[in-house]
Amino acid sequence: MIDISNINKIEWKNTKVSVLGAGKSGIAATNLALSVGAHVLISEHGDLVKITATQNLDIETGGHSDKILDSDVIIISPGVSDKIDIIQKCKELQIPIISEIEFSSWFTTSPILAITGSNGKTTTTSLLHEMVKNAGHNSMLGGNIGIPFSENVFTERESGQKNTVHILELSSFQLEHIELFSPQISCILNISPDHMNRYDSMDDYLKAKLNIAKNLVTPAWLVYNAADPALEASLRDRHRTQLFSRLTNQQVNYHVNGEKVYCGSIENPQILFYMDETVLKGPHNIENIIAAATMANLFGVNDLHVSDAIKKFSALEHRMEPVVSPLPLNFINDSKATNIASTMAAINSFENITLILGGQDKGETDFSELLESMQGRVNHIICYGHAAESIHSHISSYGDSFAIYNFSDAILKAIEVSEDGSTILLSPACASFDQFSNYEKRGDRFKELVSSLGVIHE
Ligand code: ADP
Repeated sequence: MIDISNINKIEWKNTKVSVLGAGKSGIAATNLALSVGAHVLISEHGDLVKITATQNLDIETGGHSDKILDSDVIIISPGVSDKIDIIQKCKELQIPIISEIEFSSWFTTSPILAITGSNGKTTTTSLLHEMVKNAGHNSMLGGNIGIPFSENVFTERESGQKNTVHILELSSFQLEHIELFSPQISCILNISPDHMNRYDSMDDYLKAKLNIAKNLVTPAWLVYNAADPALEASLRDRHRTQLFSRLTNQQVNYHVNGEKVYCGSIENPQILFYMDETVLKGPHNIENIIAAATMANLFGVNDLHVSDAIKKFSALEHRMEPVVSPLPLNFINDSKATNIASTMAAINSFENITLILGGQDKGETDFSELLESMQGRVNHIICYGHAAESIHSHISSYGDSFAIYNFSDAILKAIEVSEDGSTILLSPACASFDQFSNYEKRGDRFKELVSSLGVIHE
């Protein structure tokens, strides 16, 4: 078995690695392990593996066999829960189990800037990437955002490119099984309930997120939102923390004041940007912007490069995305809002709303938490999908609400009940898997429907 306290001494050519899960990150980790000479077994519970066996690579499908127990180290993919039997057996045999993120980090010495949180990861990570690129670095964007970290590390090693910075979006799943991973700057944007079908408690979920800074040593930094109660309670006494907040000027590098965001000292503030100079709308996006700016600033990116990236940033699909329609209504596709906090953020960004909620519940969500933010903003509610009835029972006290199973029928109902000039907001607070393969497909269907339905609103 490998000795994690001495990874530089590992002779990979004599090392047996098992990779659990053959999704994108499992395959990328396999390729990286093969490239350093390891013998790899990739094991997948489904039937499909998009990689071909070679002399150094064995493949098993249809489940995880006991062959895995003959390994020196296990790399577990983020989609695989560590509660499965084979992992319990590996633990009994004390075989080291590491995440794909941990493994990749052993093969790069370039700086890593990593972001986690319940919401805003993709937006903040993409923006930070632009800021770091503006400053002339070879910024590689990876992790949960699409390209696995191990694929980027593989490319970096193969090409021998210099001046690389790894910018990582990390989910809580990717932050399980962290040992030595140590970003130069890490950030936790916020914490609110999510993925409660995978975690036993909110505490377990928070623990996974906090792993991002498990190995923080000077000169590294941890950036977090001072206004997030769970983060403040857990991190208040930690060293090397830098706060961001849109609600206070204390101990922060960027100050929000009305329609402007300032950099520089409180005594001598400089305008970083005006709110109408960015496509990122809503208070939550201001938090994402100042989080990215704070990280960039700690990394040495100057404020001109920061502000330029903010002003040039284009909107991301499926996140409060305006959709053009021939109807006299404003349509917003926020299909990526798959938990309560993200839906609340969207509700707080509009008025006169017809809200479309629903899909597949991610685990005992208390939809009544939405009621307070709906006051004065939401006129009608349409609940769709698997969770329709349950949501309806939580929020029917609010007033005008309907439960309709089929997604397309729900959209038509929303159009039917909405007054001209109002905003039809798809911000479902649930996963999409009951009727779609992912949130992108749900958002695409919404856009298709609303751009083609000019005749319905007679
Ligand atoms: P993630 O990658 O964490 O899912 P995204 O940037 O993709 O985050 O945004 C996901 C959803 O959360 C979108 O609906 C978006 O409008 C909303 N959102 C983005 N940033 C925040 C934030 N800071 N707080 C609450 N909701 C947010």
